[in-house]
Amino acid sequence: ARPLGGKVALVTGGSRGIGAEIAVRLAAEGAAVALTYRSREDLAEQVVKRIGQAGGQAWAVRADSADAEEVRSAVAGVADRLGRLDIVVNNAGINVVGPFEGISVADVDRVLRTNVRGPFLVTQAAAPHLGEGGRIISIGSCLAERVVIPGSTLYATSKAALIGLTKTLARELGPRGITANLVQPGPIDTDMNPADGETATTQAGLTSLGSYGRASDVAATVAHLAGEGGRYITGAAITVDGGFAA
Ligand code: NDP
Repeated sequence: ARPLGGKVALVTGGSRGIGAEIAVRLAAEGAAVALTYRSREDLAEQVVKRIGQAGGQAWAVRADSADAEEVRSAVAGVADRLGRLDIVVNNAGINVVGPFEGISVADVDRVLRTNVRGPFLVTQAAAPHLGEGGRIISIGSCLAERVVIPGSTLYATSKAALIGLTKTLARELGPRGITANLVQPGPIDTDMNPADGETATTQAGLTSLGSYGRASDVAATVAHLAGEGGRYITGAAITVDGGFAA
């Protein structure tokens, strides 16, 4: 039997990058996967197709993580469709970089709504559906652990908030057999942070391994936490950053 056979997973921001690889990996391990996207329906459908071609089960749901109503109805829709929800992956996120004093109020609101309020509301909507063995996995950033270059005040603030969310969720939901963990990637080659981008050489040089990671590296850790291997891991923040934070 496949490790996640019979489980239902929700992955936010599954149309591209890290979220897409997480969706593919969880589906390959047997989970039925709902993935959300904000605007790239075309790419979301490609991920669904890729999963289907590999023999997995997936569907795409448009839901802007910054919109409370869309988030609530997406989570309810997923739980209704298959009658259960086991694994929630808060992956959708955005990055705004630049000098602290130049960050606008609109940017602050947009980033905090997407990166902090989104995971909070997704998890709140999902929690009533989760039972014994339930898994909440959020995608933070190694910048919540260590910041070595300027320009990330807003992003690092948003990702550090997920540490508090994760630890308290572990305490509140632990008695129900539900775990909550944070996976903190380092430089991972995606649209958000391409390995041939302007600051890529600097970022790679700041890791211990000297190179970018792949979205699948993050997905592997998420799969571990989602499966039986994650049974006794909760309240933890695990870096998948090539030693960026070492
Ligand atoms: P990408 O920008 O490559 O992909 C972002 C994904 O999130 C897309 O599927 C996008 O949907 C979705 N998304 C963005 N905003 C929203 C929203 N408001 N509502 C719903 N979906 C949304 O990012 P990555 O794959 O690189 O990043 C994924 C996560 O990993 C993020 O939380 C990011 O902060 C984190 N991370 C990434 C690192 C990296 O180096 N790449 C390093 C550390 C952390 P659509 O296609 O529709 O736009």
